[in-house]
Amino acid sequence: MTVVLEGRDITQDYHVRGGMFGGAKTVRALKGVSFSVEKGKTLAIVGESGSGKSTLARIIALIDPPSGGELLIEGQPVNISHKRPGPVLRSKVQMVFQNPYGSLNPRQKVGSVLMEPLVINKPEIPAEERRLLAEAMLVKVGLGHEHFNRYPHMFSGGQRQRIAIARALMLNPSLLVLDEPVSALDLSVQAQVLNLLADLQEEFGLTYVFVSHDLSVVRYIADDVMVISQGEAVEQGTREAVFAHPAHPYTRQLFAATPETDVEAIRARVAKRQAARQASGVAR
Ligand code: ADP
Ligand code: MG
Repeated sequence: MTVVLEGRDITQDYHVRGGMFGGAKTVRALKGVSFSVEKGKTLAIVGESGSGKSTLARIIALIDPPSGGELLIEGQPVNISHKRPGPVLRSKVQMVFQNPYGSLNPRQKVGSVLMEPLVINKPEIPAEERRLLAEAMLVKVGLGHEHFNRYPHMFSGGQRQRIAIARALMLNPSLLVLDEPVSALDLSVQAQVLNLLADLQEEFGLTYVFVSHDLSVVRYIADDVMVISQGEAVEQGTREAVFAHPAHPYTRQLFAATPETDVEAIRARVAKRQAARQASGVAR
């Protein structure tokens, strides 16, 4: 098995105002977190609001450099002192944010949204081919050629998240970091987008880091789970192990707080996904 992502003892400090006598103080948002994710797998990062999920997601997505620790992508150490990763590394890791409204420029047509990463990172690709690649990707995410010249406001929330996913895939990344990607969507739309993500993962052999506070979503998409609380990984393991035997008191508390109203729906979805995996013959 190929390890696509590895983090070793990652820390993150934020310097904020409001220290004693109005000075600056340091908030340690991540206190030494380690993890690794194999190719084609999904690591879910779970925890309540403020636990450090987005902080870690932004580090893994190469948006923010960590204060300390080491990050390796496909075995290559990421030089954390450089704020901007080079184009090769940049194209390997892409991020999808929670809010598809905020992450799309309202004045930019969908086609242009999708082609932009190519314009910036692969200028050698001719304009005509760029357009064909963008149109093909629209189809991959369940949209169509006819959406190419439309503006983001003409789409529903779920469609906008499909656009954001399509854009993230334009550079052919190996790792997708998804920070609460379905949290802003209606339940039925959530299921559609999660199914799309599962399909794309199979098709492109993608590795996912999936941030969520929603345990039913985690149960559906995760291979491995990392539970974080106050900047520390308090539990790590396979989905089956963590759900069957939550070891840490915090995890038990987290699970106890989750309404179990849709257990049957969750079981059905899990069974369906497992069947699909077996049918496609992918060893995982
Ligand atoms: P989560 O995504 O799990 O809700 P975050 O990673 O956003 O958590 O935040 C973790 C902690 O770091 C919180 O205490 C939050 O207030 C703090 N924090 C996050 N971003 C910043 C920032 N840019 N500056 C200062 N503190 C921050
Ligand atoms: Mg967050």
